[in-house]
Amino acid sequence: MSKIQSIRGMNDLLPGESSTWQYVERVVSEVFETYGYRLIRTPILEKTELFKRSIGEVTDIVEKEMYTFEDRDGSSLTLRPENTASCVRACEQNGLLHNQTQKLWYFGPMFRHERPQKGRLRQFHQFGVEAFGFDGPDIDVEVLAMTARLWKKLGLTDAVTLQLNSIGSLLARANYKQALVDYLSQYKDQLDEDSLRRLDSNPLRILDSKDARTQALLDQAPVLTDYLDEDSREHFQQLLTLLDGLGIRYEINPRLVRGLDYYNKTVFEWVTDKLGAQGTVCAGGRYDGLTAQLGGKETPAVGFGMGAERLVLLLEELKLIPSELDISADVYLCGVGNVQSYVLGLAESIRDALPSLKLVNHCGGGSFKSQLKKADKSGAKWALIVGENEASAAQVVLKSLRDDSEQLTLNLSDVTERLQSLFQSSK
Ligand code: ATP
Ligand code: MG
Repeated sequence: MSKIQSIRGMNDLLPGESSTWQYVERVVSEVFETYGYRLIRTPILEKTELFKRSIGEVTDIVEKEMYTFEDRDGSSLTLRPENTASCVRACEQNGLLHNQTQKLWYFGPMFRHERPQKGRLRQFHQFGVEAFGFDGPDIDVEVLAMTARLWKKLGLTDAVTLQLNSIGSLLARANYKQALVDYLSQYKDQLDEDSLRRLDSNPLRILDSKDARTQALLDQAPVLTDYLDEDSREHFQQLLTLLDGLGIRYEINPRLVRGLDYYNKTVFEWVTDKLGAQGTVCAGGRYDGLTAQLGGKETPAVGFGMGAERLVLLLEELKLIPSELDISADVYLCGVGNVQSYVLGLAESIRDALPSLKLVNHCGGGSFKSQLKKADKSGAKWALIVGENEASAAQVVLKSLRDDSEQLTLNLSDVTERLQSLFQSSK
């Protein structure tokens, strides 16, 4: 019978890679938490309606990327393709936006039915931040400063560039959309196929087109910046001044529009040229209208999603994963003969006394030689060895695995103290 394989584009995280992920998760969560953002976790399944109403019916995500299926009662459910709408839903549902602001962060899997390739998966992971209840540009800048600090901590400052734009109010965008459609309609015969389709459904996405001819046409097209409403224009100006004040560098990209409908005013992407076509590591912006759109009270908001796989790829590519991520054990405990109960008791009492010691109990028996081989492979610095003689004498043998120092026979009562001093001096 053939073996069952995982679903295409949905990867396992194997033990060999997990320490890298744990490192990244630790650094990211430390940065977010030190800015006072608090963790939120929402279910990975939501009603399909939530994403349709937030992301937008004619976006790539909703049109062709969602994992949507019928529940047993016939209702339509979707595996979340992103987490902003879920955060808004959760906050509203639980009264978290009532007369208060929220600074939140999340981490977890997202699902999109895309063509799997480097940096693009069907189950991928995002870190993200959402700040609710702040309407000034200071919060946009805080969120950007927080990501800039994260790049610094990870050693990525020179590898990423901040691209910024303002896409204005809904009305400003509608005016611009019309102008863009009017302009491009004159050149229908020169547009690439995707852009032609988008001319009716989602014309702003044409600005993203990778097609050279379309891009050339866009050189003469009306520019979104010229259509901005006064409020958005001012917000953007202040944002730039504040960023300058912090020395955070950016490029203004008037063609940056993002693929989700709910954004307004500020949009941004942190991009890298080190990952080929999948160069956007972090993307976000303001979404002041979303909460009301989902039935709640008008609440200004800003946030971003950061692709964890792309972040890990980038760190690997630039060899920025610290080599001293120590995943090996400190002590490996071998039990030879009929000593199971003694060894288990010993292991637990050592754990009681030295809670941060990484102690691996061999388990499963076997010869002394084979156990010692495993001990060596575990990377542990010391082995504790118990045979039947040691067990009956309430003793244990301590052996260094990394130098030739002589092995010692210790009384049970001395073991933890000895380990503690060894452990401390090795740190
Ligand atoms: P892209 O243009 O690369 O498709 P997007 O505009 O669809 O990205 P968002 O929806 O804004 O991306 O998601 C934010 C971030 O999540 C992206 O910048 C990227 O780092 C990551 N991301 C999005 N889709 C995927 C995917 N299929 N696989 C891995 N990471 C992804
Ligand atoms: Mg996409």
